Amino acid sequence: MIRKRIVEGFERGLVVPQGLLAHGRGEALDYILGEETTPQAYEATRAAAALLLLSKRPVISVNGNTAALAPQDIIRLSKLLNAKIEVNLFYRSQERVKRIKEYLSSMGASQVLGDDDVAELPGLSSPRRFASREGIYSADTVLVPLEDGDRAEKLVALGKKIIAIDLNPLSRTAQTATVTIVDNVVRAIPNLCVAVENLGDKPPIELEKIYGDFDNQANLKAMIELILRRLTRLAGLEVLK
Ligand code: ATP
Ligand code: MG
Repeated sequence: MIRKRIVEGFERGLVVPQGLLAHGRGEALDYILGEETTPQAYEATRAAAALLLLSKRPVISVNGNTAALAPQDIIRLSKLLNAKIEVNLFYRSQERVKRIKEYLSSMGASQVLGDDDVAELPGLSSPRRFASREGIYSADTVLVPLEDGDRAEKLVALGKKIIAIDLNPLSRTAQTATVTIVDNVVRAIPNLCVAVENLGDKPPIELEKIYGDFDNQANLKAMIELILRRLTRLAGLEVLK
């Protein structure tokens, strides 16, 4: 069913061929994880929810794959957080930005940025450097389901906090982000909605503790260890201590 959504997204012109390849890499990693949310991913999701609730200008960056896979969940999350949605594409074309905007609007999004008042992020090559002035350009925290490593590095260098959703714990995006949720976007975004609902009435001091206690590098290492243990068990080898 998930694969069908990506293919339909491709046929609608939301997803590019490179997006199909990225999805395949994601599927392979999801197999290894057992296609379920791990305790580490839940922990990262909670930290991400706390960070988003503490942020003054949170923005949700959406690309073709995310729009095809989880449009309703993205809209729900943006409403829960009062966060802007911005279409921000690696393989950018005005036509595709417009198509994704229209698709999200048809699903109930009230405002989608992306081709309005666009500014250039310094230090990035064309055409990835464009960001909406009202959106990512002036955001303090950006949620990037499926981001490219170069841009993730640049956004962090510009002082923004980055929450990545990436099934590959080894990617540069995963390694660079402030908080990395190693999970499939189809599970991670609904989980993030639930975490935001659960933490929504907590005082800032409590949210700061949840976020402050989270160690992204340690979480990524634990994730890799979990993969190692799972494969060891599946291979019938002696379980690691
Ligand atoms: P990087 O640029 O961060 O080093 P990359 O070049 O390997 O990574 P990109 O194409 O830039 O990869 O980004 C796609 C990433 O998204 C891949 O790491 C892939 O595993 C991951 N991915 C693909 N589909 C999903 C999905 N449904 N949910 C979560 N992650 C996914
Ligand atoms: Mg890349």
